[in-house]
Amino acid sequence: MPHILNHLPTEELQALDAAHHLHPFTAQGGLTTKGARVIKSGEGVWLTDSEGHRILDAMAGLWCVNIGYGRNELADVAARQMKELPYYNTFFQTTHVPAIALSAKLAELAPGDLNHVFFAGSGSEANDTNIRAVRHYWSMMGKPEKQVIISRRNAYHGSTLGGASLGGMIPMHEQGGLPIPNIHHIGQPNWWAEGGEMTPEEFGLARARELEEAVDEMGEDKVAAFIAEPFQGAGGVIIPPDSYWPVLKRILDERDILFIADEVICGFGRTGNWFGSQALGLQPDIMTIAKGLSSGYQPIGGSLVSSKIANVLAEDEFNHGYTYSGHPVASAVALENLRIMEEERIVDHVRDVAAPYMREKWESLTEHPLVGEAKIVGLMGSIALTPEKASRAAFAAAPGTAGFITRERCFANNLIMRHVADRMIIAPPLVITPDEIDVLVARAWKSLDEAHQRLKDEGLMVAKG
Ligand SMILES: *Cc1c(COP(=O)(O)O)cnc(C)c1O
Repeated sequence: MPHILNHLPTEELQALDAAHHLHPFTAQGGLTTKGARVIKSGEGVWLTDSEGHRILDAMAGLWCVNIGYGRNELADVAARQMKELPYYNTFFQTTHVPAIALSAKLAELAPGDLNHVFFAGSGSEANDTNIRAVRHYWSMMGKPEKQVIISRRNAYHGSTLGGASLGGMIPMHEQGGLPIPNIHHIGQPNWWAEGGEMTPEEFGLARARELEEAVDEMGEDKVAAFIAEPFQGAGGVIIPPDSYWPVLKRILDERDILFIADEVICGFGRTGNWFGSQALGLQPDIMTIAKGLSSGYQPIGGSLVSSKIANVLAEDEFNHGYTYSGHPVASAVALENLRIMEEERIVDHVRDVAAPYMREKWESLTEHPLVGEAKIVGLMGSIALTPEKASRAAFAAAPGTAGFITRERCFANNLIMRHVADRMIIAPPLVITPDEIDVLVARAWKSLDEAHQRLKDEGLMVAKG
């Protein structure tokens, strides 16, 4: 039964979906009035929905389909692995070849002495591992009071209790009693929205120094680690001012705290480097990985851990693990994904071809009357929508109103671009070609035109007073 319910008309699929399927990050009620888009197949950067529309996926699914859709090699490897050994665990002194091979490959790719990997099923689970690992590490080091993990407001680190607590998303904290204890948040380097009268460089310095202030306030003997995405993704693709990371790097070097780089989006080529940390000259103690690790073809994540930490954790039993840690099919698929990335030099393609071309086209969007700043690193970019460029004003309407209208226009024009409040974001498959970038930007421009017209018609091009 290869096409389980594909014979049903779209409306019937949508009705069944609305009746029985609870969606993540979706106002469920809306699905009964306007059904979910039913995606059926994919090829390269293109998706086809149940109505036959050919959609350019400028989000690579959820930032994960880095090598593009429709790579049969990955399907073949999965089928072969399922026949040979569909499942076995890695608990209690057992292992299997796919997990061994993937661990060794990741140790080779990762910078510095990040030579050890603890596997998880997702990025969220990996960040839960990180919370336990860094706190346990300090206990083993005779400093059990080093428990606090510092993160940033509007960061995204996943949706489990631990991941969402590390994350700085207020609407997530408001549901279910988060954050868990001993997580502290400092400001994000979003100059456009929060920089006020400061220059970007001044603002970057000020936001970076918040880490130092927080460590001083709580006491270095209380702080276990700092976690950050090299470039914030789900928070709206916030590219910090150039002054920001060098200061953080100095603080992390001076203070006895661990640094966790959440590379779930930035890892595996997104910035034109294997890892986002390399774009910034950072050497983390732990890196969270997921998404692009398997290009989303299988759910898999993990924590890449330095020898310093791994050696300490190895002295004791780490009472932690997931049934699917190092799942053989997911590991085999991830390995094949990495093989293709290397063989086809996809990271080079991003750095030398796609990213420079995209940057030029993306930055030209600032000429559009609805667009304030345009930011991009590698193949992750954002534009800020604004009713008044000069003052960087927000809209008087509720945050996200203009972003939602623009996203709907993109959908109608067969372009998947997401909105985070009133920022529009992209992270297309890394295999995107210059011709496809032209299509992406042309559709974005058309959608912006239509959204701008609609905002004017509805009297919404009004700055917040
Ligand atoms: C998506 C994401 C996560 C969570 O990964 P899941 O696989 O959805 O659990 C964590 N951190 C970052 C930076 C992410 O973008």
